[in-house]
Amino acid sequence: MRWYQTAFELRFAACELAAFLSKRGHKTLISENLLGIGSQVDSHRGFLPDARCNAIEAVAAGLGQMGKSGSLLTPEFGPHQRQIVIITDAQLTANELYYGEILCHECQTCVAQCPMNALGEEDIPLRIADQVFSVSVISRHRCDWSKKYALCSEEGPAMIGNKTKVPKPEGLVTIETIANALPGRDLIMKKRPCILETCLHKCPAGIC
Ligand code: SF4
Ligand code: SF4
Repeated sequence: MRWYQTAFELRFAACELAAFLSKRGHKTLISENLLGIGSQVDSHRGFLPDARCNAIEAVAAGLGQMGKSGSLLTPEFGPHQRQIVIITDAQLTANELYYGEILCHECQTCVAQCPMNALGEEDIPLRIADQVFSVSVISRHRCDWSKKYALCSEEGPAMIGNKTKVPKPEGLVTIETIANALPGRDLIMKKRPCILETCLHKCPAGIC
């Protein structure tokens, strides 16, 4: 997936908008992970913000709904977008929340298809203004094992010839578990990771 281009375009657009507001005397701050609860996905252009970065903020801004996978779902693109935030002291009219068709039908595909079992069967309710979404408890390090550190070959690396073969961890995954596994990555191909993010790739939202 060409998330790097999406991320770059978002940065360009945010910089232009921030410059526009600055010229009119407003303070601005751009954030790719405002609440700090998102993570990163690796790509051959480096680390990029993952789909959970600024997802809650986007729902609050009326762009769509929260999926069980913790990503933003929109009627136009399902889970296939990224978000960036601009904080400003400009007086802007707030958008309403999105009240269109339900986008996450809780089909559990994201939970079942995740090769790392990073999305738990347990859900937590997430309230944003007057809406409540059911979001899976996410094992951050288990997800990052695959998405950020490219240690799960079936989620992309093997498809481009990456020979990383590290056994999937059982039970709790910590940052130390990841650190111990990193020497097992393909020495050459680790520089060009390719991550599918299966929970997004298989999600039917926006296409059914
Ligand atoms: S895969 Fe199904 S349960 Fe998961 S976010 Fe998409 S629609 Fe919701
Ligand atoms: S990005 Fe990959 S590892 Fe993380 S929840 Fe989605 S499918 Fe699972």
